[in-house]
Amino acid sequence: MSNCIKKTYAPLLMDVITVPSPDCYFREPGESWQQYSERRFELMEATLARYANEVCAVIVEPLVQCAGGMRMYAPIYLERLRAACDRYQVHLIADEIAVGFGRTGTLFACEQASIRPDFMCLSKGLTGGYLPLAAVLTTDAVYQAFYDDYNKLTAFLHSHSYTGNTLACRAALATLELFAQTDVIQQNRSLALTMREVVKRFEQHPNIAEVRQTGLIVALELVKNKHTKEPFPWQERRGVKIYRYALSQGVLIRPLGNIIYFMPPYVINAAELEFLADVTWRSIEHALTD
Ligand SMILES: *Cc1c(COP(=O)(O)O)cnc(C)c1O
Repeated sequence: MSNCIKKTYAPLLMDVITVPSPDCYFREPGESWQQYSERRFELMEATLARYANEVCAVIVEPLVQCAGGMRMYAPIYLERLRAACDRYQVHLIADEIAVGFGRTGTLFACEQASIRPDFMCLSKGLTGGYLPLAAVLTTDAVYQAFYDDYNKLTAFLHSHSYTGNTLACRAALATLELFAQTDVIQQNRSLALTMREVVKRFEQHPNIAEVRQTGLIVALELVKNKHTKEPFPWQERRGVKIYRYALSQGVLIRPLGNIIYFMPPYVINAAELEFLADVTWRSIEHALTD
């Protein structure tokens, strides 16, 4: 499906080089996230070594590849990537649209690797999800490259009809005020611990091959065979069955194929997390019976 869409739009898209994911779901038994992420970085290193002089930037979702299936990896990968991008003189773009603003336990996911990208994409959490607004942050060096006397014509002329929409900006300011007034990060860290407790039970489930978590994101890997990690055929649409049943019980989850995930709003409490896990467990049982 998505391949078919990609094909249709291929002539309009930029030519990109894709590097295999460091997704720790595929680590060997006994191998840590850290070890696997480092090992997978070798593929990135080799790709940069080969193509560095023809690429302008590397773009990554730091720590969690969200729409791609809540694929998680260790901060060491980002540390190595920053060092390699510096070595090869390639810009690093961090797409923090989904993971930014406290979702992973730090304001930005990149902080966990103590790195600074050259560009950072922000949206979603920027307005607390209330209004659409996106921003790209960059370094002074990049800013200065476009900043000159008017007649040099180097200005970066790029805008949309609703660029800087005042209502959306006001929602973003209100969100930033909340971050300034309350210790959202600390609260999220403690909520993440509650979440870990609440979802522990899924580790025992015969059809869940992995329960993984990064901050306030938890993903459950629904499989046909827990030991071989053989997935259910996608045609069976187990995820949709889980979604429909959960909705009938008052819970809105949105599985990505066979990956069930929780990415709750920061105001969720322990009792609501329990309810979420209960309903999800029952929804999985329901989806497995037919
Ligand atoms: C939602 C999302 C986008 C799309 O952002 P828009 O501002 O809607 O273009 C891009 N990247 C990630 C990681 C996202 O989660």
